[in-house]
Amino acid sequence: MKVYADWAASAPLCEQAKEQMIVAMEWVGNSHSLHSYGEFLEVVVDSCRQKIANRINASPEKIFFTSGATHGNRLVFDSVVQYFKTTYCTEIEHNSILNLCQNRDLTVNIEGVVEPRKLGFGCKWDSMWSIGWINNEIGTVQDIKHLAKMAHIYGHLLHTDATQAIGQIPVDVKDTGIDFLTCSSHKFGGPAGVGFIYCENDMYSMCKPEKYRFEQGTLDVVGIVGMTAALEFSCDNMEQHRKHKKELSRKLIDGILREVPYAELTGHPEKRSDSICSFVIPNGYSHPLVAMLSERGVLASGGSACNSGSYNGSHVLRAVGYLSEQAKCGLRLSIGYSTTENDVDYIIQAVKDCVKELRK
Ligand code: PMP
Repeated sequence: MKVYADWAASAPLCEQAKEQMIVAMEWVGNSHSLHSYGEFLEVVVDSCRQKIANRINASPEKIFFTSGATHGNRLVFDSVVQYFKTTYCTEIEHNSILNLCQNRDLTVNIEGVVEPRKLGFGCKWDSMWSIGWINNEIGTVQDIKHLAKMAHIYGHLLHTDATQAIGQIPVDVKDTGIDFLTCSSHKFGGPAGVGFIYCENDMYSMCKPEKYRFEQGTLDVVGIVGMTAALEFSCDNMEQHRKHKKELSRKLIDGILREVPYAELTGHPEKRSDSICSFVIPNGYSHPLVAMLSERGVLASGGSACNSGSYNGSHVLRAVGYLSEQAKCGLRLSIGYSTTENDVDYIIQAVKDCVKELRK
C-alpha cells in the first residue's frame, strides 16, 4: 500500500488541470507574437488571468505569472527593495523568504502565531513586512487581515507568501488589504514550475506590464492553463474539501498523539491548516523516520521538503522554541481531498511501528 502524506510539498495534479493541459499542449506559438497564433494564446492567458483574479477578488492587471513561489518571492523583494530598502520577516518563513529578507525581527510565539503586540516597534518607517499566511511546516494560520492593518498603521506594506493558503482557504486580497501575495500552482493541484504574484500597488516598476513582460520572457501557457483549472477546481470544492480534511486531520492528530508516546503537536491547536499535521517525536529523528515510513509506503516529510537535505533540524521548530535536538525530530504529515480514512489508519499504525523500531 502507498499513502501519499506530503501534499504540502506538492499536491497531485488534479484531473481538471491534466485534461486542460493536454488540450493546451497542442497549441503552437508564443503569446507575445503578433500573428494569429500569438493572439490566440494571448487571449487564453488573459482569460486565465481574469479567472485567477476573480478567485482572489483582484483586478486582472495586478496578477503576474511566475515560475513558482520562489521566483515570485524574489520578484516581490527585488522590486520592493529598490523603493523601500528595508524588509522584515519572521524566523519561521520559508527559506525562499529568509534568503531574501534583510531582518527577521517580527516575532512569533511557540504556536507560530505572529505576536501583533510586538509588531512595528523598531521597524524602519516605510518598510515591507513579509509574513507567510499558512506556515508550510507547522501549519499555523496567521490573521493576515489584522496583520495587514497593523502594517499599514505603522506605515509599512504587507507581503504574504500564500503558497500554502491559496486553494485551501478563502483568499480575498481586497478584504484583507494585502499589498503583495505570492503563490505556486503545484500546491493546489496544478503543475509545478508555474505560479503567480498579486501586486496591489502600481507605483512599483514591476507593475508596469511592458517592463514586466520584457523581464518575464515567453509565458508557459500550458502551465498557466493547468494552474487556472486547478485553482478553479480547488475553489469550487473548497468547503467540501475543507470539511473532509478537517475530519481526517483531527483523526490523524488524535491517533498519533494517542499511539506514539511523547509525540507533541506543533503549531497552533486550532488556528491551523486542515491539511498539515505536524509533530515533534522525541528520538524519532526525521531522516531515518521518513526513510522507514517510505519503506512502509507512507510518503511523509520531516518538515519542509526543501529542508530535507539539512542536518541542523527545522529552523521553524527552533524559531518557535524547540531545542536543536527536538528540531531534528519533526514529522509533517500533510493530506488532501483524496486522502481516505483507511489511509489515516495506515499512517498512524506505520508511524507507531517505525517510531517504536527507531527507539529500540
Ligand atoms: N513558500 C512556501 C510557503 C512553500 O511551501 C514553498 C514550497 N515548499 C515555496 C515557497 C516554494 O515554492 P516553489 O516550489 O513554487 O518555488
